[in-house]
Amino acid sequence: MTLKFHNTLTKKKEEFKEIEKGKVGYYACGPTVYDYAHIGNFRTFVFNDLLRRYLKYKKYEVKEVMNLTDVDDKTIKGSQKANLSLKDFTDKFAKYFVEDLKTLNIEMPEIMPSAVAHVKEMVKMIQTLLEKDIAYKGDDGSIYYSVEKAKDYGKFAGLDLENLKAGARVSHDEYDKENVADFALWKAWDKDDGDVYWETDLGKGRPGWHIECSAMSTKYLGSTFDIHTGGEDLIFPHHQNEIAQSEGATGKKFVNYWIHVSHLIVEGKKMSKSLGNFFTLRDLLEKGKDPLAIRYLLLSTHYRQQLNFTMDGIDAAHNSLERLNNFMIMLRNANGDSKQNVDSFCELAKKKFEDAMDDDLSISDALAHVFDFVREINSLENLSKNDALKVIKTMIEIDSVLGVISAEEVQLSEEEKELVDERQAARKNKDYAKADTLRALLEEKGILLEDTIDGFRIKRK
Ligand code: AMP
Ligand code: ZN
Repeated sequence: MTLKFHNTLTKKKEEFKEIEKGKVGYYACGPTVYDYAHIGNFRTFVFNDLLRRYLKYKKYEVKEVMNLTDVDDKTIKGSQKANLSLKDFTDKFAKYFVEDLKTLNIEMPEIMPSAVAHVKEMVKMIQTLLEKDIAYKGDDGSIYYSVEKAKDYGKFAGLDLENLKAGARVSHDEYDKENVADFALWKAWDKDDGDVYWETDLGKGRPGWHIECSAMSTKYLGSTFDIHTGGEDLIFPHHQNEIAQSEGATGKKFVNYWIHVSHLIVEGKKMSKSLGNFFTLRDLLEKGKDPLAIRYLLLSTHYRQQLNFTMDGIDAAHNSLERLNNFMIMLRNANGDSKQNVDSFCELAKKKFEDAMDDDLSISDALAHVFDFVREINSLENLSKNDALKVIKTMIEIDSVLGVISAEEVQLSEEEKELVDERQAARKNKDYAKADTLRALLEEKGILLEDTIDGFRIKRK
């Protein structure tokens, strides 16, 4: 099967064809570093990671660029409130963000540009837009993008532009479909911006949010690149404006595949800072939740379906993960003498996993196949070390995409292993009294053994 994505640009599922053979240029809108990211944000970032890991699994060379929005309305306001310089304020949250990425086992993008470090590129793009008469200077000194000059402005976001008032302007970074208007590329300094400004050929001021992503993506990935992602809230105005700016400036198609992640919601509402219904990753870790279970929860719903967040959801994810981890422990301790045809099981499991992922990253199906595989292998008796190693290899390959299996493994001594085997044999022979005695003995040694539907799990106390 070939890889397919649902492309927001065409509103269709399409086969992925890269521009340069074997390579993928990929831009992910990154965080606004004015606070800790919440786990709604991390749903999108975990999806970005799943996508990059699957592309790598398919042997593509991935160049992922994820920006840090460190100058916009929110970061400026936040730094003023905190009484810190914009740099000190945003550096702090950028650092926390990178720490959170690591905690969630999200791979670092190849490039993580900061907007503040790319004002020169933004100014240049705005100048090009001015030269082409697509942008104009307002009487307040700010520079606006004239949406009526853009080819097909609004098509991407499905806007009805009939009621658009010619010349109406919006200077905030964020606005809704009702307020579609010419938007600010460059904001002339005003006293609310305090000491945040640049003296440039465009005058004294600072860039708007949308131009940041156009300038940084095209700088690192070229005028046209393969994939651009973000949460669905970014379709309008942010991504619509990115397309208008970039295509206006370069005259070329901006992005071939746009992939948008549906929201993580809480009781029917989008998790967001403004609604106050959010948890940061750190909130959840403080409640004792396992970061890999959080990752599992965030990635296990298809990206185009809303994900309803609950604490029970994390606990269910934790149980699924334990099944995988215990399976790995069982494999690492396998020492049987029967020869099984695991090669065909492994091949089939991988093929089914790939077919599901190729089909618009259908993660629920892909995971269901992984658990079928776990069940099949668990049902084999006396697995030999050699066969177990083949299964481990398959699981490691699959986990290079999922990133959820913990590296930590419970190592059992020979004596402990014998007790576990003896206990399982007793249970199989329905000698439950003996099985319980052996389990108690293991517990005395600090090993907790728990029966599960598909076998058993072991933990150290
Ligand atoms: P921000 O830091 O607000 O710029 O957002 C960072 C990323 O998180 C963007 O791609 C947003 O679209 C995404 N995002 C924001 N809220 C949610 C949510 N509740 N569920 C999924 N993604 C979200
Ligand atoms: Zn962006």
